[in-house]
Amino acid sequence: MTVSDLFTLILKLKNAIEQIIFENGNLSFALQSEIDSLTLQMANDLASNFETIISSNRNYKSENSNLLAEYKKAVDLSNIVSKTNPKGVITYVNDKFCEISGYTRDELVGKPHNIIRHPDMPREAFKDLWDTIKAKKSWNGVVTNMKKDGSQYIVDTTVIPILDVDGDVIEYIAIRHDITELEETKQQLRNINKAMKNKVDELYSMTNTLEQKAYKDKLTGINNRENFEDIFSIEIANAKLNDIALSLIIFDVDNFKLVNDTYGHQAGDILLQDMVHLIENNIKKGDIFARWGGEEFVILTPATEINGAYNLAENLRKLVHSYVFKFVENNLTLSFGIAQLSSEDTKKTLFEKSDKALYEAKKNGRNRTELYKV
Ligand code: GH3
Ligand code: MG
Ligand code: MG
Repeated sequence: MTVSDLFTLILKLKNAIEQIIFENGNLSFALQSEIDSLTLQMANDLASNFETIISSNRNYKSENSNLLAEYKKAVDLSNIVSKTNPKGVITYVNDKFCEISGYTRDELVGKPHNIIRHPDMPREAFKDLWDTIKAKKSWNGVVTNMKKDGSQYIVDTTVIPILDVDGDVIEYIAIRHDITELEETKQQLRNINKAMKNKVDELYSMTNTLEQKAYKDKLTGINNRENFEDIFSIEIANAKLNDIALSLIIFDVDNFKLVNDTYGHQAGDILLQDMVHLIENNIKKGDIFARWGGEEFVILTPATEINGAYNLAENLRKLVHSYVFKFVENNLTLSFGIAQLSSEDTKKTLFEKSDKALYEAKKNGRNRTELYKV
């Protein structure tokens, strides 16, 4: 409304008042000039108030639009901004959007927003976005977009739905930060981390293999002779120091040559492996089981007197005798020799005593256990 609109209104009001008074027959000259002067005064007052309101409103508006312009400048400088209509067609892009995407403004405006969708971004990834903004709420997330040249850029994105007075979406504004470098650095760190983990695993398993090779017998996986000899020395020293019993069992497969000759060397290998596993599962954790060489094995039994070792040997002998092994028809038998450590014994003499007992077992018909006798 302008000042002249206001005057027209006041004149209409004045004429209406005069008409009513005239129709009632009381419009004197004095009353009419009184109405004229009051009307003029009211018009002046209203006009000056109107001017004040209009000018303060004008100032307010220009102050606000200055502030908005400043904000827009700041947002445009540091952000990638676009607007789309409710159908997702681009209606506005700022310079930064064109700069990063490699498209001109003309190539973007009027096109569907998915012109910058990266093929690696699955369609489901946008489901949450659309569900949120269609529910008239703002959405924030990380999105990988594609430039005109096909390369990717990663943006931290906020999409805000803009509503009209009826609460319907009229457009969407998307504001993004380019976080490509940050995300790529993060990915590189993840790759380095993974590669390092793989290397550590590799080293770990190499160390394990080396350790195994050094201590374990290749064919059967139990202690090899070298490792056994070290343990043997320690156990003898420990038994003597603490006055604890220690017995040594040596056993040898009976007529093993015949097994090899009949079924082949490979079958002989498998038989040795199966026999070792059977025995391994039937001795105590503290007993030390090792392959001395060929088809000859030792079991060192700490804190065990010769009778205890005898019982163990007999159990193992019967167990192997009754076990049905793969490939071979006849039952496998073992001969055992046992001696107990005396205070004068060394590693060498204890071994010789057990070995002598084993020799006796073989001599006495095999598939038996003999104790060392002086
Ligand atoms: P016994 O001990 O009862 O006197 O007779 P034997 O036939 O077992 O004795 P001998 O010492 O003459 O032969 C042992 C055989 O064991 C000879 C060798 O080829 C075989 N042998 C040793 N080590 C292995 C091995 O790792 N695998 C296979 N398949 N055979 C082996
Ligand atoms: Mg033998
Ligand atoms: Mg032998």
